[in-house]
Amino acid sequence: MFLTITTTGTAENPATDLGFLLHKHPDRVRVESQSHGTAHVFYPEATAERCTAALMLEVDPVALVRRGRGKGRGGAPDAAIAQYVNDRPYAASSLLAVALGGVFRTALKGRCALRPELPERALPLRIEIPVLPARGGAALVHRLFGPLGWEQVSAEPLPLDERFPEWGESRYVRLVLEGELRLADALRQLYVLLPVLDDAKHYWISPDEVDKLMRAGDGWLAAHPEHALISSRYLARHKRLTQNAIERLELVRLAESDGSEVEEIDNAVDEHADTQERPVPLAARRREAILAALKAAGAARVLDLGCGQGQLLQALLGDVSFTRIVGMDVSVRALQIAARRLRLERLGERQSARITLLQGSLAYTDKRLAGYDAAVLSEVIEHLDPERLPALEYAVFGAARPGTVLVTTPNVEYNVRWETLPAGHVRHDDHRFEWTREEFRAWAEPVAQRHGYTVAYVPVGDDDPEVGPPTQMAVFTRTGPDPTATPTPTPTENTTTDTPKEGEAA
Ligand code: SAH
Repeated sequence: MFLTITTTGTAENPATDLGFLLHKHPDRVRVESQSHGTAHVFYPEATAERCTAALMLEVDPVALVRRGRGKGRGGAPDAAIAQYVNDRPYAASSLLAVALGGVFRTALKGRCALRPELPERALPLRIEIPVLPARGGAALVHRLFGPLGWEQVSAEPLPLDERFPEWGESRYVRLVLEGELRLADALRQLYVLLPVLDDAKHYWISPDEVDKLMRAGDGWLAAHPEHALISSRYLARHKRLTQNAIERLELVRLAESDGSEVEEIDNAVDEHADTQERPVPLAARRREAILAALKAAGAARVLDLGCGQGQLLQALLGDVSFTRIVGMDVSVRALQIAARRLRLERLGERQSARITLLQGSLAYTDKRLAGYDAAVLSEVIEHLDPERLPALEYAVFGAARPGTVLVTTPNVEYNVRWETLPAGHVRHDDHRFEWTREEFRAWAEPVAQRHGYTVAYVPVGDDDPEVGPPTQMAVFTRTGPDPTATPTPTPTENTTTDTPKEGEAA
């Protein structure tokens, strides 16, 4: 079983970055033992212009048959025959997907600790699987991969026997996918769709398969026209689990379409419409609190760091007291959605001069962020690994140094009040941590102290007497120079350089 992933690149963005993304060094051959055999990862080519990673799975047919026995579906009755006529060792199949999920686990999640900006980049990709079992044939392959953003989907039916073309076609195809996608998205599609095409899921289906499907399907499955077929086959046609999956996908679609409703609510908030009558979503209350704090600080030039899909930017743009607005995010996709939401293409000259979107990471110092009155980090810090917080701290408070910094983050104590949140779960898949009020303060106080800021806290959402508000906001105000900036500062120098800036920000 064999799969190759090829990308092309340039001197600045070398194709060998693929090695970072896959967490497998291009110069080395990796061998990993898996439950059904041995997975090999190697790079037949690795230059700046072109890099190919190959995943080969050597299946141990004996282990496969043993595992199959007494394990429900795919088990006992035909296991004896399977030993002789099993195609598993030769054809890419659900086993390859299992290997993919194991060997490229971190890549599948879209994480890359060394180069956090890389996974967000859409790469020119070519994925080839020379022998792919496809029940439903090339037509189904096109129905499945067609809607997923590939420029080219090719599924060439393989003859049953090359020497006897008159015997017709086998149920195998040679699959080639070409297009610009994020690697994680491509891998997650394969992780789900290989077993779906194979349609012979070899292992016992447990209820947590639905969770796996939801995780791997994040961002593409809910809107896929074949989501019902995909769910049913992925879950080995288990009726109740399939029903559960389809219902959960429906909820995802509802949540996604909510975006437009949130926009309307935003506008309502802007116009100070009556917010008492219906419960205002937390996201809208957060924006309200942020806007109020920005106004109180008299900020005109504002950074929205980790701006996501641009809901706050839209509110800022709607208020003329904000003269310069910058949205930055590490995610290209989020920025694209933000650009669409803001209708950047169609803004008039004066409006478009007010706003800029930047791609960048808060884990790096960025000169473009200097010289602003305020920075907002709304529900962003919890998306960074805790080890990267010092880098973020330096980038924002040490280097950019706006007069005001607003940081919001969920209050984990409040989680017990969420009806739908199972105990011990964070609110969002991508949250690396969630803090209590005390933990938040324990982070914020020394940050303020280290960089010459004071900090105050504002509850966002209903402030529950026992567990506090759902979201907590820290308002940092710059009061002096960064004590860490110059090793031997003379008091006079610092007062003269900093005083005018204070005046502006106040
Ligand atoms: N501020 C928005 C979005 C919050 S979601 C809101 O309040 O709704 C968190 C956002 O942070 C995501 O868009 C994610 O892409 C972004 N993000 C995560 N890590 C980042 C980093 N290192 N640098 C910049 N943005 C980052």
